[in-house]
Amino acid sequence: MRLRVLGSNGTYPTPGRPCSGFLVEAGGTVVMLDAGPGTVAALQEAGEAARLSALVVTHAHPDHCSDVFSLFNLLRLGPEPRSGLPVLGPEGLAAGLARFLGAGEDHAFYEVFDWRAVGGGDRVSMGEVELTFGLAHHQVPTLVVSCRAEGRRVVYSGDTGPGGDLAAMAAGADLLLCEATFQGEPGATGFPYHLSAAGAGALAKEAAVGRLVLTHLSPRLDPDRSVSEAAVAFGGPVDWAAPGWEVET
Ligand SMILES: [Zn+2]
Ligand SMILES: [Zn+2]
Repeated sequence: MRLRVLGSNGTYPTPGRPCSGFLVEAGGTVVMLDAGPGTVAALQEAGEAARLSALVVTHAHPDHCSDVFSLFNLLRLGPEPRSGLPVLGPEGLAAGLARFLGAGEDHAFYEVFDWRAVGGGDRVSMGEVELTFGLAHHQVPTLVVSCRAEGRRVVYSGDTGPGGDLAAMAAGADLLLCEATFQGEPGATGFPYHLSAAGAGALAKEAAVGRLVLTHLSPRLDPDRSVSEAAVAFGGPVDWAAPGWEVET
């Protein structure tokens, strides 16, 4: 199974750094996780737009979903039009995005995308990849996503603070792609809906994952420092999800 990074900025994109978006690939299956601003351009740069098997949108915050509209236009009006792309997200996501477009039931938004609501405990097979969902601890309904293929497992935190289903779902994963919005002592900011790099490292250690990849770093932070703080807490291999970075697991 291969993980490719389209973007990983938390909260807002910066030049050359889109917000959250990843490709998980196994065999001929390509699943995109999140569609933050800038990721649809990166998807085209990666040459994978036409091969996309499904999109998972973890939650309705713009840094994870605003490029759904770009993808809609690309698939509808771009060089290789297509319809029926499965899009999995929490209950209410499709209706909220459709409302922004003013899209009624007969709108192309529901032709281009095959919307499916998923929640904690749900399991969906997409080609070679089996997806399992849990719930994060965040301000809005947010998915934690486990991807299993070829005997390997990648778990993506979405946005989460301590709590929720992440720790249980991450247990024994080969790779944990974990949000690390902050630096410094876990909990120091007092904000309960995101993790620090050290908090992500501690969670990775507790869950005994094979490797830790940090994402959703605040754009104003030095990624190398986040990696150092997570590595001290984890004691295993840690990387930062730089745009364009990829890894086989
Ligand atoms: Zn976010
Ligand atoms: Zn969020």
